[in-house]
Amino acid sequence: MDLGWTGKAAIVTAASRGLGKACAMRLALEGADVAICARDEAELMRTADEIRKASGRDVLAMRADVSQPGDIKALVDAAARRFGRIDALICNAGGPPSGAFMDMTDEHWEAAVQLNLMSVIRLIRETVPHMQRIGGGRIVNISSVAIKQPIPGLVLSNTLRAGLHGLVKTLANELAPAGILVNTLCPGRFETDRILGLDRASAEREGIPVEEVRRRSESSIPLGRSGDPEEFARYAAFLASPANSYMTGQAIVVDGGQWRGV
Ligand code: NAD
Repeated sequence: MDLGWTGKAAIVTAASRGLGKACAMRLALEGADVAICARDEAELMRTADEIRKASGRDVLAMRADVSQPGDIKALVDAAARRFGRIDALICNAGGPPSGAFMDMTDEHWEAAVQLNLMSVIRLIRETVPHMQRIGGGRIVNISSVAIKQPIPGLVLSNTLRAGLHGLVKTLANELAPAGILVNTLCPGRFETDRILGLDRASAEREGIPVEEVRRRSESSIPLGRSGDPEEFARYAAFLASPANSYMTGQAIVVDGGQWRGV
């Protein structure tokens, strides 16, 4: 199936590695030009080169911290200038720190709100006018299976991502007349640095080897393994593409069957 990416342009934030990088790579391989950002400029430039070499597409790489309003505006403006259009926006950010409710201070909450909630609000606000100008677009918010089934020890993520899906549902309704479809994509457990870090933190807290944490997590997944970021990226590439023409306001779980709810 042709997803219709040829001639299209997308922004994928927090894309120097992990799920964001895999999404940007997949979109470019499907024929899109992509704008990517991250805070670590050297790693970002290496990723941009990798995507250019693999896909032959135009890649705009810009150092930006998505928790900073000025950085978001600069990124969206630069992408619109470079490509002349923005067809899709994939909102991604680093995950907030792990910890229980009583461990979290106002400063932790405030930082997580800026990183995981306000970043998405500002990205969408800056991008929508560009989508309206070309008659529509697609927005995909990378969230977590935590919005279906809160994950122990991740109170910041559990809280903010559920709130964000309320925004996605609201925007699916508000932006539909403009031809803009908005969805949430919920990863379960994918092999990235973030997951390795969370495994290490759990191992330390519980005083057990990191391999045991990993084995325990993977044994709770019906498909019996962690996902490869490239597998996740295929779902993002569909949801963010013109081929997705009738699904909006949904939270799609990609988790090897880990979430047991109906
Ligand atoms: P990762 O740590 O491997 O990669 C995060 C990326 O975000 C990196 O490119 C990093 O440079 C960038 N980044 C971090 N903070 C940033 C900021 N303030 N501004 C700009 N860029 C920033 O993480 P990942 O596993 O790819 O996860 C991506 C998102 O998906 C996170 O929010 C994570 O919590 C969520 N998530 C991931 C999984 C999983 O299985 N990997 C599961 C559930 C949710």
